[in-house]
This record gives sequence, C-alpha cells and structure tokens, in this order.
Amino acid sequence: MRIEYDVKLDFKDVLIRPKRSILQSRAEVKLEREFRFKHAGTKWKGVPIIAANMDHTGTFDMAVALGEHQLMTALGKFISLEDWKKFANDYAEILPSCFVSVGISETDFEKLAQLAKVVKFSSICLDAANGYTERYVEFLVRLRKAYPDKVIMAGNVVTGEMVEELILSGADIVKIGIGPGSVCTTREKTGVGYPQLSAIIECADAAHGLGGQVCADGGCVTPGDVAKAFAAGADFVMLGGMLAGHDECSGEIIEENGRRFKRFYGMSSAEAMEKHHGAVAEYRASEGRSVNVPYRGAVKHTVNDILGGVRSTCTYVGAQRLKELSKRTTFIRVTKQLNEVFVPYTLNDNK
Ligand code: 5GP
Repeated sequence: MRIEYDVKLDFKDVLIRPKRSILQSRAEVKLEREFRFKHAGTKWKGVPIIAANMDHTGTFDMAVALGEHQLMTALGKFISLEDWKKFANDYAEILPSCFVSVGISETDFEKLAQLAKVVKFSSICLDAANGYTERYVEFLVRLRKAYPDKVIMAGNVVTGEMVEELILSGADIVKIGIGPGSVCTTREKTGVGYPQLSAIIECADAAHGLGGQVCADGGCVTPGDVAKAFAAGADFVMLGGMLAGHDECSGEIIEENGRRFKRFYGMSSAEAMEKHHGAVAEYRASEGRSVNVPYRGAVKHTVNDILGGVRSTCTYVGAQRLKELSKRTTFIRVTKQLNEVFVPYTLNDNK
C-alpha cells in the first residue's frame, strides 16, 4: 500500500484569477475550435461541448438542438439501426456532430459494422466505465484497425500513463473522469476515483504531448465548472446532468405536487440495467442513481447560459478565443467558492 500526499483538486477547490485584458466585450470571444485528429486525420470545427451518451441526454432531438449551436452529441448506445438510418437521412448536416456509442462486446462490434454499412458517421465513442482493462485496450486496437478514418473517443481514465496508452492504441480523444458524474455512485460503491480538475490537468498534458485530445467527462454543475474544465486543458467537455430535464431529453414529464420533472438515471444504475439487460447481474453492484430532475423547457436556454458563462470567463482573463483560455489561466486555490446564502446555483435555476 502507498499513499500519495499531493493534494488533488476538484472544480470547487479553485477559482480563475482575472487578468488585464484588451477585450471590450464577451461578444468578441470565439468559442469555436478547430481540431485535426491524430489517427483519423480528419478535421472538425465547432464549439467543443458534447452531450453525454446517456439514454436521457444522448438523443437525436438533442443532437439537432445542439447542432444549431455547433455543439456535439454522443448518441446513446441503445439506439436502433432503423432510427439511425432515419436520422442520417433527415439530418445529414447534423451527422458530423454526432458520436456513435459502442461498448466492448462482440455484439457491439457487429452492431457497429452493420451501422457503418448504412450510415456515414464520422465519430465513435468507445464507452466503458473503466478504460484500464486489457480487454478494453485490445478492443480499441481492433476498432482502430477496422475504422482507420473515424474519430475514436475512448475512456474513461484519469491518469496520464493510461491516456498515453489509449492514444498509442488508436484513440484520437481520451475521455477523462472516474466517479465525478451527477448520477454516478462509483466513489460510494468502490472508493475509487480522482478529483476531476487535477485529472484534467494531468491527462491533458499527457495527451497533448502525443498530439491527442482529451474530453473532460462528468462533474460540471455550473457554467463556471465548464470554463474551469477548459481552463484546465480540456479540449472537449462532456455534459450529462447540466443538459438533463429538457424537452430534447428522453422520457415523459412527470407531475408531482404541482411541479414538473423528468427522469434521469445513470447508465450503470439499476434502472438502466433493468431497462437494457433485464436485471442487475448478481456479481456487480449498480454504480449509478436515478433522480427526478426539474423540467427545464428547451435546451437552447441552458446552452446560451453555458456559452455566455464561458465567453465571460474568457473576457475576464483576456482570452479572445477559447483556445487561449488555458494558457491565460492562473487557478487560485480557495476554501470557499460560492456565496450560497440565498439560492445556490442548482440544476433548476437557469431561467
Ligand atoms: P455529469 O455531467 O452528469 O456530471 O456526468 C456525466 C457522465 O457521468 C457521463 O458522461 C458518464 O461518463 C458518467 N455516468 C453516466 N452514468 C453513470 C453511471 O451510472 N455510473 C457512473 N459511474 N458514471 C456514469
């Protein structure tokens, strides 16, 4: 057994120090970024925020709504071939902003091969709660061989050496985050995890050294957290909870005591496992929870709130483009981040 005494940080442990700036207003800030992907060799331009590939947020309606703002969506893993075909046909222009999600089983590999025959998708999200297993890496190598020109986002991991291994094994983008998610119970159930801000800082450094990118996945609760993730070096930021509860999310509106909600559950929750696999396998504990999140209307209001926040961050540090935010950031370690005397910034107060 070993103990590391270096303090690792979360979003709540830091603030971004303002810097002198020549920017007049946040309207001058450009949030678009352009990337060329290491293995796929393709280019992408847009606002590098991605809706999580969870049943609730990874929907075609979300892809269409976010696509209008040049944001991306990782579609859920359980979408049928028929639905994909219809979407690709009706919304060909949105397709380049979508990730197809795939797990690491043989069935997943075959399903993807079927899809590739009929839908010209550009990007794959190879999804596993734990990207550290040998089986995962072998699957990634196989996927890269089969799809040399598709963008592959792989994860999740939280340490530099594993980021390097995934990039060398074929990942263009590595997804960072174990345990920070809003409906994740991994830390309670297993005691495993890594504070998300430090994970991003360390992993971004490792990825950039090899010409790869990282996507910070999980734990953002406010637009300020999204800004901190970018400031820490994330190339992309993936959001679940912050995009939950909207019209574009799956599930009906639930009325309770005169208030409206939508159901949001973790993809490893008992609810998800029962839905997709019939039951929770006996050998595994569920590592996700289910919650009713307040209904929040159209997602475009939330998107504007997030993008407005990140633009403002850039203005505070004098970054004219999102790309410069990380270089211009000095984080300061704090013991108190927000004044919560009235209403804390929660999922339901974006209006
Ligand atoms: P959020 O933005 O809601 O904080 O985090 C979203 C991320 O949480 C997802 O992209 C995914 O990586 C992770 N996640 C989703 N469902 C589960 C789950 O059931 N268990 C765990 N451990 N993580 C989950």
